[in-house]
Amino acid sequence: GPALALRSVSHAYSRTPALREVSLTVEPGEVVAVTGPSGCGKSTLLHVAAGLLVPQAGSVDLLGTDLHDLDETARAVLRRRGVGIVLQYGQLVPDMTLEDNVALPLLLDGGDLAASRTAARDALARVGLEQAGQAVPEELSGGQAQRAAIARALITSPRLLLADEPVASLDAVAAADALDLMLAVARRDGGAVVLVTHDNLVAATADREVRLREGRVERETVLR
Ligand code: ADP
Ligand code: ADP
Repeated sequence: GPALALRSVSHAYSRTPALREVSLTVEPGEVVAVTGPSGCGKSTLLHVAAGLLVPQAGSVDLLGTDLHDLDETARAVLRRRGVGIVLQYGQLVPDMTLEDNVALPLLLDGGDLAASRTAARDALARVGLEQAGQAVPEELSGGQAQRAAIARALITSPRLLLADEPVASLDAVAAADALDLMLAVARRDGGAVVLVTHDNLVAATADREVRLREGRVERETVLR
C-alpha cells in the first residue's frame, strides 16, 4: 500500500483554515515535492504526514495505519520507527558529537549505546562524513551539518522521509549534494520522500509536484 495517503483532509487552527479537503497519495519509492506560497499549508501538511497533527476532518493513512486508530504514544512509536524528518537548518544538538547526534533516533528508541554508535558511524560514512564523528556541529560547514542531519533522519531506515526546506540554507553545490542523498532513499531503497520547497529547481527533481494554494491542492504535475 501507499506510504502516505491523505483523504479529503481539512484542518484549521482556531479560525484560520490551513488545509481544505486535501487528498494526496505517496507510493513507496516516490518523491513528491509540495510547493506553494508562504501560508498555503505546506508545514501543516508535513505535520499531518509525520503523525504530529491529527487533522480535524478526513483520514490519514501513514505507513499502512489509519492515524485515527492510534493514540499519541502509538503515533510517536510509528514516527520514530518509520518516519525520518529533515528540517532547513539540520537542527543538530549543539553539545553532542556528530556520532551521538546521528545515533539519537536509535537511542531514543531504546537502542544499545555501542550498537547505535556503530550504526551512526556507518551512516556518517554514507554521507561522506566518516572523519567527522567526534566533531560537534559548530565545527562543520552548513553543507556538512545538513548531510549529518540527513544521516540522522535515515538511520532508522524510514519508509517515509519528510523534508521541510531541507536545502534552503545551502549554496548550490551543497544543496545538490544533500538533495542527491535524500533522493537516493527513494530511488535506491524504495522509501517515499515528501519534500516541501519553495525552490523550483528542487521541486523539479521530484517525480511529482503538488502545488498548494490557500490550503487546497491547486495543481498536480507529473514530472517523471
Ligand atoms: P506554509 O508552511 O505553507 O507557510 P502553514 O501550514 O505554516 O503554511 O500555515 C497555513 C496557515 O495556517 C497559515 O494561515 C498560518 O498562518 C496558519 N497557521 C499555521 N500554524 C498555525 C498555528 N500553530 N496557529 C495558528 N495558525 C497557524
Ligand atoms: P514555515 O516557514 O514552515 O511555514 P512558519 O514560519 O509559517 O513556518 O511557522 C513557524 C511556526 O509558527 C510553526 O510551528 C507554525 O505552526 C506556527 N505558526 C504559523 N503561523 C501561525 C499563526 N498565524 N499563529 C500561530 N502560530 C503560527
